[in-house]
Amino acid sequence: MPVFRLFFVCGLCLCLTEAAIGQANPPARSEPARSLSVPASPLPSGPKITFNSVHVEGPYVAMTFDDGPSATLTPKLLDLLAARRMRATFFIVGENAAEYPEIVRRAAREGHEIANHSWSHPNLSKMSDEGVRRELQKTDDAITAAIGVRPTLLRPPYGSITARQKSWINEVFGYRIIIWDVDPLDWKRPGSGVVTSRIVNETKPGSIILAHDIHPATVEAMPATFDQLEARGLKFVTVSELLAMARPSPPGPDATAAPVARPAAPPVQPPASAPAAPVVSSPAGPN
Ligand SMILES: [Zn+2]
Repeated sequence: MPVFRLFFVCGLCLCLTEAAIGQANPPARSEPARSLSVPASPLPSGPKITFNSVHVEGPYVAMTFDDGPSATLTPKLLDLLAARRMRATFFIVGENAAEYPEIVRRAAREGHEIANHSWSHPNLSKMSDEGVRRELQKTDDAITAAIGVRPTLLRPPYGSITARQKSWINEVFGYRIIIWDVDPLDWKRPGSGVVTSRIVNETKPGSIILAHDIHPATVEAMPATFDQLEARGLKFVTVSELLAMARPSPPGPDATAAPVARPAAPPVQPPASAPAAPVVSSPAGPN
């Protein structure tokens, strides 16, 4: 198997784990020699890099808002969150962060997590390593300039990223890759009522909920969404806080959900549509 031979020739310390990767993710074609300078793909036996949701033992979920900050909508959302003493995670587009650093600062000051969503929202899976590195570094720098702290999470635009990219990005930037398990498709502008019902119906403990603070109807949907999730006993934390609560998943399919605390709540159903787990997904939806 060519990939094995390359790794042994390389003679570096990752031989065993890399070989395991070769079995788990056989490359479609031989990689050029230069790719040996970065890991080939995620380490199956190493720390987990990518998260769609988290197995937790308490009723915790993470609200995430992508693509901002927006000059008008993000402050409105921050007001809503502050009134409820809720914290969320903002996956920031670097261009916007550079334009509105004061909004990023306010979000951080109010306890929200600020994370990297690239500089210009491209499909990273179709870019060169150097292009991806520039996208991430510029945004990392813009966030750091705004709030004085480096982000530790990346959400690739559209959830689109290859296994090899995830691995080297984790090595180079230290980022964990955050996707989502609840997607109300709010970018299709279905109306605030639909955004609320989709989120409420799909969310379970440990969920990572995707929304966009650049659409008016999404922000309008949030009070009812928060009310209904809170009525089910769910509590909001940042993504990093949720990750820190992670427990090993019990065996069995879809065994990640702990029961919701409140018995009066409507039943928690797994999403009727498949939860988004796009390793390389279509860029049709502006996530
Ligand atoms: Zn996005």
